[in-house]
Amino acid sequence: SMKVLKFGGTSVGSPERIEQLLPIIKSQTADKHLVILSAVSGTTNDLVTLSDLYTKKENDAAYKHIEFLHNKYKAFTNELFKTEEGKTEADNFIDRIFQLLYSFKNTDFTSAEERVILAQGEIISTTLFHLRLKEKGISSVLLSALDFMLIDAENEPDIDYIREYCKKELAKYPNENLFITQGFICKNAQGETDNLRRGGSDYTASLLGAALEVEEIQIWTDIDGFHNNDPRYVPNTKPIAHLSFDEAAELSYFGAKILHPQSVFPARKFNVPVRLLDTMNLKASGTLISGETTNQNQIVAIAAKDGITAIRIQSSRMLMAYGFLRQIFEVFERYKTPIDMITTSEVAVSLTIDQTEYLPEIIKDLETFGMVETDSDQSIICIVGDFRKNNHGHATIVSEAVKHIPIRMISYGGSENNISLLVPSSYKIEALRSLHNRLF
Ligand code: ADP
Ligand code: ASP
Ligand code: MG
Repeated sequence: SMKVLKFGGTSVGSPERIEQLLPIIKSQTADKHLVILSAVSGTTNDLVTLSDLYTKKENDAAYKHIEFLHNKYKAFTNELFKTEEGKTEADNFIDRIFQLLYSFKNTDFTSAEERVILAQGEIISTTLFHLRLKEKGISSVLLSALDFMLIDAENEPDIDYIREYCKKELAKYPNENLFITQGFICKNAQGETDNLRRGGSDYTASLLGAALEVEEIQIWTDIDGFHNNDPRYVPNTKPIAHLSFDEAAELSYFGAKILHPQSVFPARKFNVPVRLLDTMNLKASGTLISGETTNQNQIVAIAAKDGITAIRIQSSRMLMAYGFLRQIFEVFERYKTPIDMITTSEVAVSLTIDQTEYLPEIIKDLETFGMVETDSDQSIICIVGDFRKNNHGHATIVSEAVKHIPIRMISYGGSENNISLLVPSSYKIEALRSLHNRLF
């Protein structure tokens, strides 16, 4: 049997934290463990800053930034490693990575180089952990995620490839039971280094756990489970003991930062339970996400997603016409832009998007149907719970709680387990708090 254990940025954020990982891994019961690590917290942001400086050709500032990061890692390895031999090996490795970071000054700096830079955070954290285990005399195998994590031309993970090539790597070490690999990073269809977007280590864990059909996927982070509201904005939020895959997928897709927006889908498809656990509070039972539905007749949780643009298309041609919505949807399909919310009236349709790369083209195409208006800086507030029609009381409480907030759109009835509200982002925190006070 096998388990996947993913540790996020803060869980590998300092030498002390890294020392906590081994006892956690040792306390597990599976025969084999695949450990997935994020970059040390802050490092991916530092690498983004560095790439921006290279893009702007500000090489002096780039060098200063690299030097600052290099010194940070020298101090980190000096504290993490206890023997001269261990320190030397780690320093040599770190020096090689920083040589690479320095080497971009004379290159034509494109998004391909940027993605190579962003990959270094996870390469550093996994290698340092592997070397530290070696120093302690503990056997482990460091696998390169670039040998098996693959996305296709549409940026979708290729799970069959991932399964085949990850199994091939694992099979090379039949007698080993501790494997380490990088979260976040992958290869793309062009064979370049790429990534699964910010927060993507959760997605790596779910993809590998699903592909290998492991016993359980554990996501170790800095909070005691999935809370019923966003703890960054709302006081007195509480961890939820159990979520169904659908509930967790909806909440993370609609902004709950604890999980990457796509990360529940592979686990759900292969029915692999996901457990959220707290590296700073080992006694907390965390949250179990599984195929069971246990939160009946309840409001489960609230989440919010920022950066939403609402688009309204008003057209008298919509009246009594069929095929109108299809034509509208085709515009979004043409520009590969997903729609999140949609509401319609007799003469208008409103919908929301969060990818605005092709917004000008989309607006231009939509204008052939009628008048088009857009509102940017909106937030979707997503309330997940049991909204079956005999539970109409819940919808009433929701509307009571937000009666003082300007609501741009409401979506209710699309599924039986959610209500979504679109509000200007400046009202998001107030909406989250007011809903929290009424609902919990
Ligand atoms: P990691 O680095 O381990 O991946 P993240 O910072 O990505 O950790 O995710 C954990 C953080 O998500 C928490 O510290 C918390 O601030 C934030 N968060 C947002 N919404 C929720 C929620 N509903 N439940 C728990 N944490 C949440
Ligand atoms: N290191 C990456 C990020 O900061 C991936 C992750 O931590 O999940 O986005
Ligand atoms: Mg994360």
